[in-house]
Amino acid sequence: MQIDINIIYYFEKSIFVIDPTLKIDETTQSQIRRHSALIEFMDTHCHARAYSFQIKKCNNPTCPYCKPIRLPSQEFHDLSFLPDPIPSQENTDHYAAFQSANAEPIPKSILVVGKIRGYIDCEDCKKRRCVYSDKFLNSDEQQDFQQVLESYSYSCGAPIFPDDHYLKEVVFVRTRINCDSPIEVLYYSSRKSGNYPICYYCGESEGLVAPPESLKQRFKQIYPLCEMCIENRKGFHTKGEIKTNGRASKRRKT
Ligand SMILES: [Zn+2]
Ligand SMILES: [Zn+2]
Ligand SMILES: [Zn+2]
Repeated sequence: MQIDINIIYYFEKSIFVIDPTLKIDETTQSQIRRHSALIEFMDTHCHARAYSFQIKKCNNPTCPYCKPIRLPSQEFHDLSFLPDPIPSQENTDHYAAFQSANAEPIPKSILVVGKIRGYIDCEDCKKRRCVYSDKFLNSDEQQDFQQVLESYSYSCGAPIFPDDHYLKEVVFVRTRINCDSPIEVLYYSSRKSGNYPICYYCGESEGLVAPPESLKQRFKQIYPLCEMCIENRKGFHTKGEIKTNGRASKRRKT
């Protein structure tokens, strides 16, 4: 692992901005825990693990520490902390490469819009997540699936089924998500019954705001956004910029 000494130097300097009462020799967890300003900062900006430490701007306009973000807001939103290392499947003496730690353990061929078989709501954040399976479920499988939905509560990032359930290898939800994750973009192309527009960020179906005409002219896809999220300084999530001049339009003619 590479550590940039400059970064450590600057972090040590900035840490006193957050909590000027901190002493340089206070390094244990119990000493740090007394510094509530620092603890709050760490909770809202940092991701601390045994061998890694990551900091990200909180993007809260009232934050006294962070300068405004410079990335476009949707790119910033897509930036997440690097995932925790997981053992490699081929060689358990090693960790898996970052790419695969970040990737879903579900076959890629299943994470497509045509294989969405339904939706499941998180008990905690109430957002809808897509349920995928390679093939249609027969009526027995349907029934067993329904029964699991009724007897277990689902929460983002968790699998749907208990470990010993036979449908565990058949029906999937994404597990590399948490309650902060936005709605999957595939949800918006899915035409399964029970699909209705919900806010990209919070999953709310009420108070959706119509995107401005200027945005509609610039992007092929504009995802729903609610009043609450606008109040929280979120902007429309978009995809597929429409290029009106230059190469893109030339290519379209041929
Ligand atoms: Zn901040
Ligand atoms: Zn959730
Ligand atoms: Zn919202």
